[in-house]
Amino acid sequence: MAEQAELARPASSEKLQTINPATNEPGEAYDPHTIDDAKAAAKAARAAFLDWRKTSVGQRSGVLHKAAEILRARKDELARLMTDEMGKTVTDGRAEVEKCAFHCDWFADHAEEYLRHEPADIGGGEAFIAFNPIGIVLAVMPWNFPFWQVFRAAAPALMAGNGMLLKHASNVPGCALAIEDVLHQAGVPKDLFRTLLLSSHDVEALIKDDNIAAVTLTGSVPAGRSVATAAGSVLKKCVLELGGSDAYVVLEDVDIPQAAKIAATARMVNGGQSCIAGKRFIVVRSIVEPFQQALVEAMRGYEMGDPTQEGTKFGPLVSVKARNEIHKQVEESVANGAKLLLGGKVPDRPGAWYPATVLSDVRPGQPAHDEEVFGPVAAVIAAEDEADAIRIANDSEFGLGSGVLTGDTDRGRRIAADELEAGMSFVNENVRSDPRTPFGGVKHSGFGRECGVFGIREFVNIKTVHVKAAEHGTGSRTE
Ligand code: NAP
Repeated sequence: MAEQAELARPASSEKLQTINPATNEPGEAYDPHTIDDAKAAAKAARAAFLDWRKTSVGQRSGVLHKAAEILRARKDELARLMTDEMGKTVTDGRAEVEKCAFHCDWFADHAEEYLRHEPADIGGGEAFIAFNPIGIVLAVMPWNFPFWQVFRAAAPALMAGNGMLLKHASNVPGCALAIEDVLHQAGVPKDLFRTLLLSSHDVEALIKDDNIAAVTLTGSVPAGRSVATAAGSVLKKCVLELGGSDAYVVLEDVDIPQAAKIAATARMVNGGQSCIAGKRFIVVRSIVEPFQQALVEAMRGYEMGDPTQEGTKFGPLVSVKARNEIHKQVEESVANGAKLLLGGKVPDRPGAWYPATVLSDVRPGQPAHDEEVFGPVAAVIAAEDEADAIRIANDSEFGLGSGVLTGDTDRGRRIAADELEAGMSFVNENVRSDPRTPFGGVKHSGFGRECGVFGIREFVNIKTVHVKAAEHGTGSRTE
């Protein structure tokens, strides 16, 4: 394997300064990498890839299983890092690390099956499809699930024989470096996976570097547009996992308290800071009043608490800036006709705190209706009937997750499968991602998929091979 390239970390006045969201106090500060460091890392990664691609799937699988083991062993430490840098509760942090470990194990165990040569029936003769690695994938990642988002992309990429450079969100540098450490400890060659503490201004230049084969971004629509433009300009593959304003259609035949509980759980995932959190609850008018009341009660159960304490299920948001933006969206929605049923007031204490909030009478022209609200704010929108609810659900620039709450499973299955314009749809369940099933969106929620067989095949060369046996040669047929 190639030797690790030394990445200089020059002292800079623009250190990456972490801020504890619970207190607004500064934490660790980190020296950033330069674009020259990043290009050197890309060159070294490419060299390491040429060795890695020759390893067997079995060898890679051993490394990924080891990564899972290390993640589990370091769970408490890694969870605490997330709490300190982006405010996640330690309980959620531990669950996130467990999920990453499960994901590594899943791809370690299933990559062989996902990437096995597929025979093609061409009516005589031999043809098959091979899945070759493509090289170094640049991963540009967000802070909200600082471990999960990265492992979601990295585990299949590494199992497919690729390398990866990580440019993480600038507020979670400690998490970014810890991920690199876990993978190196597991046996991933040092140059093959590197964390770059890089400014987002340098991403375009790195995408254009010849040693980068492709890019995957999880983040906002503007960041997606910028990455897709850079990748398009040099004709490189990209996968985009962007924002969402997930709609739940709530039908008149539903068990209301049960539906409200699912809605609150879906909305409050990660303190409401999840791309696939349920954000708009589109309720058939005949049950809108009792549903709202039940939703307020369910949301009231999410009391703000110290994220470092066991059992706290709702901590601070990521930053005071993000909190202020959410509050502005709530205030503008109320100014334009929405009713505040719960929360909606900024607490008088330091830190990025904001309470669980419910808005009713949400309509077009209000941010709670038209935009993604990336925090603990549930928007209730009334619909005339099922068809109207589906129309409203689909009347969004986004199409990531979606859901149906109904007492009629067949009705729910039909709406979820055929009617909702989204990459994922959940009937009477909470929205979530899972290594075993494809994850991704349509419209401005992005394109391409992560997870499952579809995910691992995003960053491979799907190669057709036709073979005609040599008339006087040797060799057996590929299965
Ligand atoms: P963000 O501001 O777009 O940042 C995401 C990443 O992109 C960060 O590493 C950021 O770096 C980088 N970035 C920002 N602008 C860029 C640009 N112009 N060019 C290249 N890179 C750029 O998003 P966020 O606020 O961290 O995350 C919240 C958003 O992500 C929400 O919209 C959420 O729905 C979405 N999200 C989507 C998924 C999904 O799977 N679909 C999952 C989670 C989150 P810096 O931090 O240095 O700016």
